[in-house]
Amino acid sequence: MQGLLSVIIPSYNEEAMIEKTASVISSILQEADIPNELLFVDDGSKDGTWEKITAAAGERHNVCGIHFSRNFGKESAIAAGLSRSKGECCVVIDCDLQHPPEKIVEMYRLWQQGFEVIEGQKSSRGQESGLHAFAANSFYALIGKASGIDMANASDFKLLDRKAVDALLGMPERGAFFRALSSWVGFRTATVYFDVREREAGESKWSTKSLIRYALNNISAFSNAPMQFVTVLGVLLLAVCGVWGIVSLIRLIAGYAVGMGTGLALLMLLIGGGCMLGIGILGFYVGRIYDEIKARPRFIIAETCGDL
Ligand code: UDP
Ligand code: MG
Repeated sequence: MQGLLSVIIPSYNEEAMIEKTASVISSILQEADIPNELLFVDDGSKDGTWEKITAAAGERHNVCGIHFSRNFGKESAIAAGLSRSKGECCVVIDCDLQHPPEKIVEMYRLWQQGFEVIEGQKSSRGQESGLHAFAANSFYALIGKASGIDMANASDFKLLDRKAVDALLGMPERGAFFRALSSWVGFRTATVYFDVREREAGESKWSTKSLIRYALNNISAFSNAPMQFVTVLGVLLLAVCGVWGIVSLIRLIAGYAVGMGTGLALLMLLIGGGCMLGIGILGFYVGRIYDEIKARPRFIIAETCGDL
C-alpha cells in the first residue's frame, strides 16, 4: 500500500522557516519513496509567510497553500488543512521543525502496517522557560484529569488515516481540540516517541496568557466537571449552614446567648463567594454554547495556491 500522504503544516509568522521546512520534508519523503503533498496553512500571518508559500508552491509541484483572511488559531489551521487534504493519510506537523520530520517516515510505515491513528508523544519537552513550562504542565495535568485522556506528553504531531480524518471533519464542534479528539475518535492506534527540538528560527507564538485561554477553552470543551464542582460546593455550604443552625438552636434552647455577628459575616462571605464562583463557571459554559450556536465558520480562506 503506497497511498498519498498529506503533510499539513500550520504556519503563523513563519517566513524564516517555510523554505527550509518545505525542502527538508520534501527530501526526507522523496528519499523514503513516499508520495506526498505539503499543505501549508498560513494562519493570517503578518509577515511574508504567504509570499514564501506561493514561491515554494511555484518551485515544487508537491507544495500547496491556504491563506486565511486573518489569524484564526492553530486549531482552525489544522481543520482547514485536513478538510482540503487529498491524501489517504494526513500528518500534522509544526512549521518550526521542532517535530522531527524523519519521524513522518516511521509513522507512515506504521500506517502501512494497518494502524489508523499514530500519535506523536514527546519523550522530552525541549527547552522551555520556567513559567511557561509550569503553565504547560499544570494545563496538561488539569485537562488529563478532566478528560480522562493522558495529555502530558501528547502533541499535535500525528498521522491520521482518511477514516479518522473524515470522523474528525464530521464533528460540528467549533471549539474542537485536535490533540484530544484524535484519541477520542478511537481506531487502531500506535505511538511514536520523539524529542522536541529547539526552534530553528522565529519565536514561539504562545504567550502565557494565550496558553491560559487555550487551557480554559479546551478543559470546558472536554469536561463538565467544573460545573459539578459548583454543585458540590453548594451542597457543602448548605450542610455547614444546617449544622451551624442546629448547633445554635440547641445552644439557644440550653439558655446560652449566641454571638452571631462574626459567624453571620463569615457565612455571608462564604455563600456570596460560592455563588459568584458558580455563576462565573456557568457563564463560561453559556458563553461556549453561544459560540457554538452562532455556528460561524472556523476559518475563512482568502486565497489558495498550488494544486488545491
Ligand atoms: N501556529 C498557528 N497559528 C497560531 C499560532 C501558531 O498556525 O495562531 C503554528 C506555528 O506557526 C507553528 C505551530 O503552530 O507551526 C506551533 O507554534 P509554536 O512553535 O509557536 O508553538 P510551541 O512550539 O512554542 O508550542
Ligand atoms: Mg514550536
